[in-house]
Amino acid sequence: MHQENQIKRRASKRIYVGKVPIGDGAPIAVQSMTNTKTTDVIETVNQIKRLERVGVDIVRVSVPTMDAAEAFKLIKSQVTVPLVADIHFDYRIALKVAEYGVDCLRINPGNIGNQERIRAVVDCARDKNIPIRIGVNGGSLEKDIQEKYGEPTPEALVESAMRHVDILDKLNFEHFKVSVKASDVFLAVGAYRLLAKEIQQPLHLGITEAGGMRSGAVKSSIGLGLLLAEGIGDTIRISLAADPVEEVKVGFDILKSLRIRSRGINFIACPTCSRQEFDVIATVNALEERLEDIITPMDVSIIGCVVNGPGEALISTLGVTGGHKKSGFYDEGIRQKERFDNTDIIDALEAKIRQKASLLDKN
Ligand code: SF4
Repeated sequence: MHQENQIKRRASKRIYVGKVPIGDGAPIAVQSMTNTKTTDVIETVNQIKRLERVGVDIVRVSVPTMDAAEAFKLIKSQVTVPLVADIHFDYRIALKVAEYGVDCLRINPGNIGNQERIRAVVDCARDKNIPIRIGVNGGSLEKDIQEKYGEPTPEALVESAMRHVDILDKLNFEHFKVSVKASDVFLAVGAYRLLAKEIQQPLHLGITEAGGMRSGAVKSSIGLGLLLAEGIGDTIRISLAADPVEEVKVGFDILKSLRIRSRGINFIACPTCSRQEFDVIATVNALEERLEDIITPMDVSIIGCVVNGPGEALISTLGVTGGHKKSGFYDEGIRQKERFDNTDIIDALEAKIRQKASLLDKN
């Protein structure tokens, strides 16, 4: 019902992580990363399955040791979502997970070691059609770059990224994406803006070490929101010191807010005040939890009284407007004869939303 966004995406090359397209106008993919011990195969598979249920497109798993690489093989055979292996330094681990069917390698070519090792990894990635993510982080810049700039700056992050990019360019390897993350919003945004002009590769966005659930979500929304609104960014990861499932939910919420990509219900709810005729907050919380399985995009407005209720309902797929004892119900902006008893509003609305989702899915 709402207007589509007017964002013009930055033109970029396209890569594929498994079957998921990244860049060149493809839907912006939402990623997360497991935080279990990779060697604990059962726990890791369980976490990936929970991430799949909330719609994750790509999952990163850190593979710090050869034991973890063996575990990766078992994990890979039990999940369907594409997996990125996060590897630092050890090129043998990269070759191992490539053999085990990894969908993307997160490894910085400049950190692999001598030319022979770099070439071995890049040739293997080329042969097996595995993309690479170059990931630069404001907290771990090369010593000489740190000395040159004195502190992490957007230019410093981009210079670091370009070192790795140049290595892949020289080896004629194009199947890669790049991230330049920082925990400071302005630093990350500045770096991505610069990088967007430097290269044509897709960009992986993130505000790294953003913080806990609330502060991390806010920081990420501001940083990624600024960039995405400018058309920069092809895949996102929200880094939260929280359950990775929350990262995926926040990621989709950001994309939903910008009308870039819809998945599931976009709840519109009033902040409540003494005019509310039913408990709006309890209703929204209960419905958010009960309807996590719904992936059909729709706007549902839940408004406590007639001050703003009818207006919001008019531009929502479904809407409820608080009234005395019974609340008004709208479908596609049209007021329905049926009203909901205020004591039964959660069950009634859940049923209506489920009904609507299956109707929309059929069309
Ligand atoms: Fe209060 Fe009504 Fe506004 Fe909700 S819509 S905050 S209940 S005045």
